[in-house]
Amino acid sequence: MAKRDYYEILGVSKTADQSEIKKAYRKLALKYHPDKNPDNKEAEEKFKEAAEAYEVLSNADKRKKYDQFGHAGMQGGADYHNFNNMGDIFENFGDIFGDLFGMGGHKKQRKSGPTPQRGHDLSQKISVTLKESYLGCKKDIKLYHYVACDTCSGSGCKSGTKPSSCGSCQGSGSVHYQQGFFTYTQACSSCYGQGFTIPSPCSTCRGQSRLQKHEKLNINIPAGIYNNAELRVAGKGDAGVFGGTSGDLYIVVNIQPDKNYFRRDNDLVTKLTLTYPQLVLGCQIEIENIDGSQELIKIPKGSPVGKEILIPGKGFPLLRGRGKGNLIIQTQCDIPTKLNAETKQALLDYADKLGKQAQSSGGITGFFKKFLG
Ligand SMILES: [Zn+2]
Ligand SMILES: [Zn+2]
Repeated sequence: MAKRDYYEILGVSKTADQSEIKKAYRKLALKYHPDKNPDNKEAEEKFKEAAEAYEVLSNADKRKKYDQFGHAGMQGGADYHNFNNMGDIFENFGDIFGDLFGMGGHKKQRKSGPTPQRGHDLSQKISVTLKESYLGCKKDIKLYHYVACDTCSGSGCKSGTKPSSCGSCQGSGSVHYQQGFFTYTQACSSCYGQGFTIPSPCSTCRGQSRLQKHEKLNINIPAGIYNNAELRVAGKGDAGVFGGTSGDLYIVVNIQPDKNYFRRDNDLVTKLTLTYPQLVLGCQIEIENIDGSQELIKIPKGSPVGKEILIPGKGFPLLRGRGKGNLIIQTQCDIPTKLNAETKQALLDYADKLGKQAQSSGGITGFFKKFLG
């Protein structure tokens, strides 16, 4: 199913400010909230969809990327769902529901165990050729990041055991002591301020709930991608701690310069070197586009050097919306540095025909003579 536009999902305009977006999301979240729609799959999907739209549009960076690249910038959300379960949504946007549904229900209990924390976002560079950015491509990347521990499913505990509230600080994570008139507060040394302990840590992750691992990902680079564009791969940053949501991975695309082509906005530009007669008389010439396709270029007669000939629709695909930029051919003139006697004579004859003013040395001398008196 094609992904719906995030603005459309929330029913706000593209210029909506943060308070409008928040208001729109609250309205939808309230309407499709699981408490109000028990066992309603459709409502659940709408609830998740709204959360995803809100997650992107409520974040200035993500929103900018989305505005620029659409779902492509979000790395084809079809492959990666940020919100696999409802718990993730409450964990991320619980504040929004707090005053709607009270503190009960989905709010986490305090310190009978660890508080899940979201994993860090990660950033990685990827290098593609200009041709790859024109056509789009798939790239393998190697990633070294935290993943949730499979053995304990991110709990950090040996199977069948649970974390327990720290006895020294009663789960608060801090201890108070009195010295004279003053009460001091200090992080609890028994639980390192965490408020809980893990009596039987998982042996795979040593109670850390996650571990570092090498992973290979196949990244889809959309056709038309810009230099320095950031693609977001949801959920492929560091895994969260104790079952928290994973961070996102941002792929920064670096486009290597090409020796024949360069990019200008959405146009693909190349230089075409022609002879003086070709420019003067006009000609037709076949060139190879960056993707290997042949293009027949018509050079009109009397074309100056630097003239731009535009082939519509053969440039870079637009990342948002449909259509493509243009292919632009810039004319250049081939000035020979070595001439045989015959060619030289032909040029001199030609210069004669044009008249004295074309004979550069004479012209310039004449000009300076006049100028200097
Ligand atoms: Zn403690
Ligand atoms: Zn483990």
